[in-house]
Amino acid sequence: MAQKYAFVERECVACGTCVKACPRSAMTVYKGVRAGCDAFICAGCGTCAKACPAAVIQMISKGGDE
Ligand code: SF4
Ligand code: SF4
Repeated sequence: MAQKYAFVERECVACGTCVKACPRSAMTVYKGVRAGCDAFICAGCGTCAKACPAAVIQMISKGGDE
C-alpha cells in the first residue's frame, strides 16, 4: 500500500485549522499565506483533509505509483 501525504492546493486560506488538527504536527502555515505538510512527518491519516473548511487538502501518494 502506497504511503500518502497531505497536499495543499493553492486555494488554501491559511486559517490554520489543519495545523491544529494534525496529530503529528506535520502541518505549518507558511508566512501566513498557505499551509503545507512535511511529507516525512505526515502519517497520511487524512485528519487535516477532513478538518479543512475550504476542502483544499488532497491525500497524494508519496511514491510515484497510485
Ligand atoms: S485548514 Fe485548509 S484552508 Fe485552512 S490552513 Fe489548512 S489547508 Fe489551508
Ligand atoms: S494527513 Fe494526518 S499526519 Fe498528515 S498532515 Fe494531515 S493530519 Fe497531519
